Amino acid sequence: MTVVIDNVLGPVMPRHPEKAHRPDQPALRKPDWIRVKAPVSPGYLETQRIVRANGLHTVCEEAGCPNIGECWEKKHATFMIMGDTCTRACAFCNVKTGLPGALDAAEPEHVAEATRKLGLSHVVVTSVDRDDLDDGGATHFAAVIGAIRARCLDTSIEVLTPDFLRKDGAIETVVAARPDIFNHNLETVPAKYLTVRPGARYFTSIRLLQRVKEIDPGMFTKSGIMVGLGETRNEILQVMDDLRSADVDFLTIGQYLQPSRKHHAVIRFMPPEEFQALATIAYAKGFSMVSASPLTRSSHHAGEDFARLRALRATR
Ligand code: SF4
Repeated sequence: MTVVIDNVLGPVMPRHPEKAHRPDQPALRKPDWIRVKAPVSPGYLETQRIVRANGLHTVCEEAGCPNIGECWEKKHATFMIMGDTCTRACAFCNVKTGLPGALDAAEPEHVAEATRKLGLSHVVVTSVDRDDLDDGGATHFAAVIGAIRARCLDTSIEVLTPDFLRKDGAIETVVAARPDIFNHNLETVPAKYLTVRPGARYFTSIRLLQRVKEIDPGMFTKSGIMVGLGETRNEILQVMDDLRSADVDFLTIGQYLQPSRKHHAVIRFMPPEEFQALATIAYAKGFSMVSASPLTRSSHHAGEDFARLRALRATR
């Protein structure tokens, strides 16, 4: 029986108390095409130093992202704001679950300073879910965007937000801060929501993305799903249609990897050629940009992809 613990700070605490008593899930052996770079380079260590010096959290570390060796070598880190503790308990996610602490009013400046020190031309900012806050953390997102804009004039800003479920006005607050790209992940197909993303609602997420475009038709929108959670191909194609109905520009599709035996099992490893086939279909359905591969993550190569997306729109 595996219990996931976090003993980096303070006493030994279960990282996922809600999962601690669940039976272990089977763990499939990873195929050869899931290969990652070891996190050992000087660039990696420098990224780690800057993140630590500013007291920040990254989703790269908290989610146990397989790309961290590659991304941090290039000083590409994705900041996770509003603490390291999430009010939701999704079955796929490695971020700690619990009651988060108060917001850090200095965090926007620290994120901006780390963005400057890392020399990021494109920064991705995400967060834990903050269902405990009246606005879900939307005002804090806006403050972070404002601080980066003030300090890093040439940096494009991508936000990857929670769903702001039952937080009226939250989407409007974030859009008004003018990020360059508004990302919100669906994570999985609607039939899997109750088991994979139980605190969320599929059509709330679709509606969020649609609402962003209603408020600001020029804002780029982006969303992503994981495969390997037991979804069918037709369900994936339906998600593509739903996202296109919401006029989403950019789709990411990556392989789900199981953080621990307490998390949702990997039902299947999709071979790389099936990702390519899905990308072809997604382009045919009208997405401007698609990233689909086993190691695709929302923020993987986000800067290069955003530059291509912007250039594409300019030519149109
Ligand atoms: S893919 Fe995103 S989350 Fe993963 S290491 Fe790279 S920047 Fe971080």
